[in-house]
Amino acid sequence: MARPLKPLVCLLATLLVWHGAVFGQQETLDRIDAVYGLSQRNNTEALAQIRTLGEQLSPTTPYVVQREYLITRIDLELDSGLNDAAKVSIAKLLALARAQPKPDDTGLAMGMGFEASVMVLAAQHAGAILKLDEARPFAERSGDAVALGQHYRILGTAQLSTGKFEPALESYLKSLQYADQQTRHPKQSRLRSLNGLSNVYAAMKNHEKTLVVIDEALALATELDSRKMLATLYLNQGGEFAEMGRHADYAAANAKALKISRESGLVTVEATILNNMGDAYLRSRDYPKAEQLARQALAKYREIDDRGGLITAQCNIGFALMGQGKVAQGAQEVRAALTLAREANLLADEEDILGELGRMYEQLGLHKDAVATIREQQKLSAQLFQADREKSVAALQEQFDTVQRQKQIELLARENSLKDATISNQRLQQVVTLLGVIVTVMGGVFVFLLYRRVRKTNQKLREANKQLEFHAVRDPLTGLFNRRSFFDLMNRRAGATNGGRREDDNPDGLMILDIDHFKNINDTLGHAGGDAVLIEIAKRLRSTVRDTDMVMRWGGEEFLVFSPKANAAHLKSLAQRVLNVVGQEPIAVGDKMMTITVTGGFLSLPFSGLSETDCNWEKAMQIADMALYLGKVNGRNRAYGLNRLLAPFEQVMPVLERDISAALKANMVELVEVLGPTPAG
Ligand code: GH3
Ligand code: MG
Ligand code: MG
Repeated sequence: MARPLKPLVCLLATLLVWHGAVFGQQETLDRIDAVYGLSQRNNTEALAQIRTLGEQLSPTTPYVVQREYLITRIDLELDSGLNDAAKVSIAKLLALARAQPKPDDTGLAMGMGFEASVMVLAAQHAGAILKLDEARPFAERSGDAVALGQHYRILGTAQLSTGKFEPALESYLKSLQYADQQTRHPKQSRLRSLNGLSNVYAAMKNHEKTLVVIDEALALATELDSRKMLATLYLNQGGEFAEMGRHADYAAANAKALKISRESGLVTVEATILNNMGDAYLRSRDYPKAEQLARQALAKYREIDDRGGLITAQCNIGFALMGQGKVAQGAQEVRAALTLAREANLLADEEDILGELGRMYEQLGLHKDAVATIREQQKLSAQLFQADREKSVAALQEQFDTVQRQKQIELLARENSLKDATISNQRLQQVVTLLGVIVTVMGGVFVFLLYRRVRKTNQKLREANKQLEFHAVRDPLTGLFNRRSFFDLMNRRAGATNGGRREDDNPDGLMILDIDHFKNINDTLGHAGGDAVLIEIAKRLRSTVRDTDMVMRWGGEEFLVFSPKANAAHLKSLAQRVLNVVGQEPIAVGDKMMTITVTGGFLSLPFSGLSETDCNWEKAMQIADMALYLGKVNGRNRAYGLNRLLAPFEQVMPVLERDISAALKANMVELVEVLGPTPAG
């Protein structure tokens, strides 16, 4: 059995950019940097040094230093296959980043990225992708090229492992872009991304492109004297050559990889090479050599406690023995490996092993054993398929639920932003599309039901979006149009009139209203009571205007009525109706009855035949507001309307805009007064 090198090479040390050197702190950062440089040549030594360095840090060490230290340490631990140790360091990094006065997005993004790496190493690819979805906002918010580069590199690895070649390609290309933006170690990061990219091309069986990318990476690795990467790249290059049938090149590349990994203590790479060489001998049926190499690989895997590696090597020993005629002894080794795989719940490995064992029996002419083994494999395969299916459905469901939760929060918060809704909707659409893919691939009742649920929820989402749209233009308390919708209306109106003069006989009416002594109402009835009054008044206003009129809540207890094509007479009668409908009947709030009145100011738009360039709606509003103010001063529960100017515009406007009473005294405007109902009792 051949074994691909785990994607750990993509997780090599990643250092962060920090801004502004702090003395003393800089010294430690430089040391961390030096350890990172060393790790390229000698991982074991670098790991020992970073641990020593860690012992010298204290809780008072500046955060950036601690962060860099932990990130480097995690990288080195993961590279050494010390996943459990890495998990401890990751937890520390996350706790530290969270404990900052303002939680550090870079630290969080990196920590979660590493968590995803660990999942990838444990072959939990769906989980890793979910974890990265969770981490992405942090990475994006940090804007840190290192964190973003790491993010997309790991995502690429997870996508590649799940056979999503195109997305993986895209992710690695993104990570390459970010690598080039890094101010520190851009080349190292570029190198790692190139390595990932070559893995994608290799998986896509694009030998030429793979070799081209590997060549570029090799040049970079040589320049940086990055032994780890050199070893890995030669190993991968060898694999490519082997597939292309270039056996001499394969052997040469492998020899280079083996030499470098031995010199630099890269046990994982060494074990992989030994194992793959043994595997090549197995395939060429040179069983004694295969056995020898598998035993060497086994020793190395034992050294680094790589369970998957151990299982593979033990299997290969078994096959080599069987090939040498020691069938029972060999089969026993293979069965032992199978037990290990089962214990570790490595079902896919188990299935592979059974397949190989079946072929081995077949090759040895032991057909009965072959058939039995293949049956066993088929059973497991069915089981695996089922498990896989459940896993991917569960992963999708989780993604879907996340989107749903977010949706609900948005609605609760009454986020009046349709943009958000659109984005979320797009996200949900993506999930639906994904489910669509699953439906076509798998069919089946379960998926159908799930799909139906999505459709139903999608329907709900459409309704929710409609509501959001409603909230975007409506005031949530009264359900009236809000200020923003009035701006929209005025903008549309300005567009329609082109800012020029409109037909004078067809002006629109504008009336602004303010509830009288509303503070008293609040004081008497409480804020909730005040709200109830606002709701009731809104209702009354709506009931009295024409269908084509628009009632808006302008602010706290101020309202606006826009009445299209309303001449002066109509506007006056509208004002009368409004004052009456509010003030005539007392309003019931709880067990209290209160008579409430409003004061208003109104005018026509365009005002007094002026062009809207001279007097636009903002200016007109200002004048209406002054008329309202006059109403307040003169006793409230009344409305004042300004019909027309009685003197030239240039003369009147400066006065009118500042002091309506002065304009009146100077007989510059024609004013209409409408009185509200006399209070009952
Ligand atoms: P005036 O007759 O001069 O208008 O007196 P007023 O008390 O109404 O004075 P003003 O218009 O300045 O006061 C508005 C008050 O309305 C202040 C604020 O506490 C209250 N208010 C604003 N928005 C709301 C709201 O949404 N609900 C409630 N209950 N009260 C509000
Ligand atoms: Mg007010
Ligand atoms: Mg008021």
